[in-house]
Amino acid sequence: MFQSHIVVLIAGLFALQMGVVCVVLRRSSGMDRSGLTSWALGSVLAAVAAALAAVQELRPLWLVPESTGLALLAALSVMAVGARHFAGRPGRAAPLLALNLAGAAAVAWHDLAPQYLAGPVALPELAPLLSACHILVLLDLARSVVPSVPGTRGTGRLAALSLVLIVIAAAVINAWTVSLPLAALAQGGAWPRPMPWDGELAMLNVFVLVGVSVSFALMAHDRLRRMLERRARHDDLTDVLLRGAFWEALEAACLRAERQRKSLTVAFVDLDHFKAINDVYGHLAGDSVLRHFAGLLRKTGGQVDVVGRLGGEEFAIVMPDTALEQGRLACLQLATAVRATPCPSEPDPIAYTVSIGVATRQPGEGADALMRRADRALYDAKLKGRNCVSLHPAGADGAADAAPVGRYVTRGQPRVAS
Ligand code: GH3
Ligand code: MG
Ligand code: MG
Repeated sequence: MFQSHIVVLIAGLFALQMGVVCVVLRRSSGMDRSGLTSWALGSVLAAVAAALAAVQELRPLWLVPESTGLALLAALSVMAVGARHFAGRPGRAAPLLALNLAGAAAVAWHDLAPQYLAGPVALPELAPLLSACHILVLLDLARSVVPSVPGTRGTGRLAALSLVLIVIAAAVINAWTVSLPLAALAQGGAWPRPMPWDGELAMLNVFVLVGVSVSFALMAHDRLRRMLERRARHDDLTDVLLRGAFWEALEAACLRAERQRKSLTVAFVDLDHFKAINDVYGHLAGDSVLRHFAGLLRKTGGQVDVVGRLGGEEFAIVMPDTALEQGRLACLQLATAVRATPCPSEPDPIAYTVSIGVATRQPGEGADALMRRADRALYDAKLKGRNCVSLHPAGADGAADAAPVGRYVTRGQPRVAS
């Protein structure tokens, strides 16, 4: 019903469209080193290969027989370079370029040598060589993508898997189509001209390029989505959760603690006299202190702890499955680490301290009420002179400030001037 040159031209149009998709994805911030430019160029070359395949079908004498194979190899090579960039291991594009140039030179030599050299010339068969190069580049593409499969989930993993499957299937089919004539050649037979399934193989290879382009675009889209989601949830200065995301995590932790009847402790942390740090050392140094503190939070915190930045120099930690005493010890450890590790700066390191308010969730208590109690404990720590950890014990609603200091405030080391 459909003539093959029409079908291959339609595949070429799809390839062009995939090139446009790659360009659009490439324009998103953070995607500039994802190999999308190479994939866009590869898609254009795939469209050229489709056009050549159609011409070869209609007017075989117009073109050198290997021209479609060369265009396909070039398209695949550029995509393989893009896949390497996407995988974060760019470089080594030179061998691929050399492979293509050698292929083009061999085809040119094949075509021109009989005209310029006197006498019969023994020339090697190019079709199996081109097929071997094609298979090698297909395997290189798979090699770039396979390591990313275990590290991704959902759409990204499905797309990577489909790309690897398409590439391996294409490599097997390409190997099979040259294996039969090769076996005949080995037994002293002649190399068939044109190759059996030549047109079909070219069409299949164009479709393979379209298929891998779709998979790659899905992989790139998945990476972009994850990156944007991460940016929307994390503070770019300190890389801890932003207020909204932290609150979501806290509410989920409260629900889980209620369901599992487990304890949950939160700590509200505020850097002491941070305005003075900004005033004395400048805002950039203040930013470094915030980053430094977030690093200490990550280093001293437990694996399952959730850390967020609630505002300027205010942070909070959710400690699941942690009772008040354990939470107090963890916070003392953090305060000690802060005192012992000034923020590196020129000419002198910047010493700073933190005040921490701690509260443990009571049965039925929600995120709002729990954080309000931790905030009250923090206020208490500030009142007691800063650089200390203050507790808001269960059942002491509204009484933290009035209660005897000894019950609530755990003094750390002597204060260190910031
Ligand atoms: P206290 O011990 O009572 O907490 O005093 P403080 O100076 O730490 O608290 P205050 O609320 O008076 O000042 C907080 C300062 O934090 C004011 C604001 O300029 C600064 N700040 C807020 N966000 C940032 C930021 O992202 N970077 C820097 N460098 N400073 C910030
Ligand atoms: Mg402060
Ligand atoms: Mg503050």
